[in-house]
Amino acid sequence: MTRDDLKNRMINYLAGQLTCKEVTEAVTDYLEGNLGFVEWMRFQMHLGLCQGCRRYLRQMRLTLRTLGTLPMGPIPLAVRDELLQRFRTWKADRTVNP
Ligand SMILES: [Zn+2]
Repeated sequence: MTRDDLKNRMINYLAGQLTCKEVTEAVTDYLEGNLGFVEWMRFQMHLGLCQGCRRYLRQMRLTLRTLGTLPMGPIPLAVRDELLQRFRTWKADRTVNP
């Protein structure tokens, strides 16, 4: 077996371990840097071979960047009180009608 053979086998092996579904499920972890080294390698391999997932990843990046530009100020007091009130009544409802 030549070096290239070995390399190709490694690539096929690693890329074959990951399905498109798994890639789409792990894409957030990938973008946030939460993948382990092996998972990250498999992810890279799959992306190298799969145009669909590359496109998906690009869209996810764009989406996250867009979301990241939204103002993340503190919640207005009125909204917070309203939410707390709703949670309280939701809890109360559950104790009355289990
Ligand atoms: Zn794919």
